[in-house]
Amino acid sequence: MLPATYNPAVKITAGFFLCLISVAFLLLSHFNLISISYLSKKLTDMRKLFILLLMAANISFAQNKVTAIKAGKLIDTENGKLLTNQVIIIDSDTIQAIGSNLSIPANASIIDLSKATVLPGLIDCHTHITSQPSGDYYGDIFRKSPIDVAVTAHIYAKRTLEAGFTTCRDVGAPAFVDVALRNAINSGDVEGPRLLVATLFIGSTGSHGDLNGFSPYLDWIQPKEMSGVANGVDELRKQVRYNIKYGADVIKFGASAGVLTEEESVGAPQFTQEEMNTIVSEAKLWGKKACAHAHGTEAIKMAVKAGVASIEHGSMLDDEAIALMKDHGTYLDADIYNDEYIMSEYKRLGFPDKILNKEKLIGQTQRESFRKAVQAGVKITFGTDAGVYPHGWNARQFKYMVKYGLTPMKAIQAATVNAADLLGWEKRVGSISVGKFADIIAVDANPLDDIRILENVKFVMKGGVVYKNTL
Ligand SMILES: [Zn+2]
Repeated sequence: MLPATYNPAVKITAGFFLCLISVAFLLLSHFNLISISYLSKKLTDMRKLFILLLMAANISFAQNKVTAIKAGKLIDTENGKLLTNQVIIIDSDTIQAIGSNLSIPANASIIDLSKATVLPGLIDCHTHITSQPSGDYYGDIFRKSPIDVAVTAHIYAKRTLEAGFTTCRDVGAPAFVDVALRNAINSGDVEGPRLLVATLFIGSTGSHGDLNGFSPYLDWIQPKEMSGVANGVDELRKQVRYNIKYGADVIKFGASAGVLTEEESVGAPQFTQEEMNTIVSEAKLWGKKACAHAHGTEAIKMAVKAGVASIEHGSMLDDEAIALMKDHGTYLDADIYNDEYIMSEYKRLGFPDKILNKEKLIGQTQRESFRKAVQAGVKITFGTDAGVYPHGWNARQFKYMVKYGLTPMKAIQAATVNAADLLGWEKRVGSISVGKFADIIAVDANPLDDIRILENVKFVMKGGVVYKNTL
């Protein structure tokens, strides 16, 4: 975050200059100061040139949307500092300058956040943004198709953005609905966070990624690859390639059993070491990171050894698992709020007792594991499993991250700079810095004093566009 001077007039001047040259040529020809014969030969070229120059000038004006934000307080997530009285200059979708003594360009539109605390847009590294429980457990499984999911996904994307989350890593959705949503957001057709998507959860037969607890005749997802269920080295390589072919930015697989499905156990490994190694190495071949859903101790260790970028959930950590994560630089992406929601609401929402009993086993253990990992210095990022609970409530997890060991600044860094690093987007998002996207949020009090302030984000800008301002 460096103070810099920025002069948007340079761009406008260039446009004007090009325009003036072409007008000058036209005037010279009008007063016969350039030979007519020369001109007649060059007339067609000149017309083309003139049109091109005018276009260049117009493009220059169109791109030149300059905004200045006056920030009373600003959280510098790169350096872990609270700054005061900062000015942020934004050109189109990018931060051009930041500092306390910047002069605001005459043509800039000004957003006055001088009474607010300003932060970079938040990042959730574990969402399922395309859906959430409707209250009809069996209806969601048996009476809905991915088309139903696709029709409503945009609602959750908008809620997430308005909650201050300008980027999400979405780690599992049916039938490439997440790819369609990501693309619609990128093209500006739908309002939502920037998305990195995992597409199909890759799991073994009978795993957390398979359909469990029902008749063997209920196995209807075709083509087979669309289920994400794969076994053995060859099938897994093909599955990774299939996901990437249809749009995956990141690969997600189930290293262990899970909570919200009906297979036995919560934490047992569901792939062999060789299978996990295959998934991660194949993803790497294609330039993608992999992350592992892993509750159980053994599965966590296997996934870390395979080289995943992050452990999702990480519920049962022992000292060896923690040491392995530190050695490998593996992020812990633990959803430590949603136990609250599952235990209070999932009975009413129609989930079977078998699932509720699994959550009872794991909820508090996961939080204690998180505390141990924080104390040991494991890299922590922010992932909520939103979609297990209502979208837009993502920030409720901050309170639990502070309760279980992080300072408010560290919790904010988990959801900004650390998250950006995990996503491989450290040059684009995660801090209010020159050259990064103008993804900026604001709240009406200092979240370093009370982290729950982030549950009520009042101002949201993504890529220089204001999506919410209730300050
Ligand atoms: Zn999840």
